[in-house]
Amino acid sequence: MAEIIQAVRGMNDILPEETPIWQHAEFIMRRVLQGYGYQEIRTPIVEKTDLFKRSIGDVTDIVEKEMYSFLDRNQENLSLRPEGTACCVRAGIEHGLLYNQIQRLWYIGPYFRHERPQKGRYRQFYQCSAEVFGLPGPDIDAELIMLSATILEKLGLKSLVTLQLNSLGTAESRSEYRKRLVHYLNENKDQLDEDSLRRLHKNPLRVLDSKNPDLKELIAHAPKLIEHLDAESLMHFETLQQYLTHAGIAFELNPCLVRGLDYYTKTVFEWVTDKLGAQGTLCAGGRYDSLVEQLGGKPTPAIGFSVGMERTILLMQQSPRNPKVESGVHAYFIMDDPSAFPAAMKIANYLRSKVPGLRLMLHCGGGNLKSQFKKADKSGAQYAIIIGEHELKTRSISLKNLRENLPQQNLYQDELAEYLKLKITKKI
Ligand code: ATP
Ligand code: MG
Repeated sequence: MAEIIQAVRGMNDILPEETPIWQHAEFIMRRVLQGYGYQEIRTPIVEKTDLFKRSIGDVTDIVEKEMYSFLDRNQENLSLRPEGTACCVRAGIEHGLLYNQIQRLWYIGPYFRHERPQKGRYRQFYQCSAEVFGLPGPDIDAELIMLSATILEKLGLKSLVTLQLNSLGTAESRSEYRKRLVHYLNENKDQLDEDSLRRLHKNPLRVLDSKNPDLKELIAHAPKLIEHLDAESLMHFETLQQYLTHAGIAFELNPCLVRGLDYYTKTVFEWVTDKLGAQGTLCAGGRYDSLVEQLGGKPTPAIGFSVGMERTILLMQQSPRNPKVESGVHAYFIMDDPSAFPAAMKIANYLRSKVPGLRLMLHCGGGNLKSQFKKADKSGAQYAIIIGEHELKTRSISLKNLRENLPQQNLYQDELAEYLKLKITKKI
């Protein structure tokens, strides 16, 4: 036997038994996003490596060690996208969607990072994202956060997540603060771990984001960015908090919340849970007012967020409100003789066209009636639809309820269609 080739480590198959909950989550997200007037954009999975170097930042974990980069056959340096914002901005600039316009966009798809695989952290993972261009906030910041809250609420996760909020200020106020932070960290250098020492010079704000419990105390006493905000950022942040309070959206201020990517300014937020261990961030977002310019466009304010799909699904599966998504077939169509197959195929399609939403499986592969009834039962269908010699002669169809002890019925095709329509709208 040939050797079996397995999937790449950290890249998951999503099997048929799992896809219903994925479809449900995606459906809810789409519906909420459309309800807020967002339009879908789809961009390629592969981009030029420079796009990510320039946007995410050279000294971030992603660019330093997590990207899947390769030279293609033309020796062009390309990467599988590790995140979506840079791609969306690239497309927006390229197609003239951003200049002097307001855009509310969303997209969903796979991303790739060479991280250590563990529960809630994979090398291919999915995100659903929203981005808004052309609005400086804080009104849109509040509305975008409300949108993310609505998604989580509609997925039944509201009681399991909390919203954390911070402001990173403008790039200028941050560079002033950065000096103070480096000074503080340098004075306490002996307490830093290897990762933080590396970040100290390259990206000191990321030290605040360290998950190492030994650094907790040190980080707690570090100077706070929020205490060194410029007046405009402070006003922005306070107004946002008022809007959220008014909307009844609870939040916690977390002065140590800095996002992993370099491009964020002002508002940053995360929806976190304590139910998924170390991978507790479900959704992360923030404002990135300088990114469009950094990527060659005209200065354009922008804000967005991404929901991690795998973590969302894991949490949904743990939630007491886990929706039981119904996806099996309603009916299974069998025939007493293979000669009836062409007629069965035709009638099955007639029923599908007459009964919106009907999930009807046609038996293929032959076998006697008994074995076909067994397959019908195994399919989980509520009904078996049967045609045989008698039915063909009388242009009728038989219907057997597989789950309730009721007599088999004999109906005309249009009667059966009406009957199923009624049952399907009543969810059988
Ligand atoms: P983390 O701190 O968990 O590494 P991050 O800051 O790298 O997250 P973002 O780049 O902001 O994450 O991505 C947004 C969301 O996408 C995360 O909150 C998370 O839900 C999800 N996500 C990020 N990386 C992964 C991954 N490797 N596997 C699964 N989901 C991920
Ligand atoms: Mg990460």
